[in-house]
Amino acid sequence: MARPTPVHVEVAGRALRCLVCDADVFTVRTITLITSGLANTGFNKQADVATCGTCGHLHQFVAGALVTRPVQG
Ligand SMILES: [Zn+2]
Repeated sequence: MARPTPVHVEVAGRALRCLVCDADVFTVRTITLITSGLANTGFNKQADVATCGTCGHLHQFVAGALVTRPVQG
């Protein structure tokens, strides 16, 4: 499995910083929330999750709310 790419994240035009450790590098993936009571039905909601690259805290957002930028250097 490919290792997730570290990125900077913006939400509503503001740079996301980790709520726990104040870091600004995350990995982002989309997850499925089982809102229909059944997995794999196509009726479940999606969320974008930014995982802090320093402490691992998960920041969840409505799918499509995040903008990512590559980490320089
Ligand atoms: Zn953190």
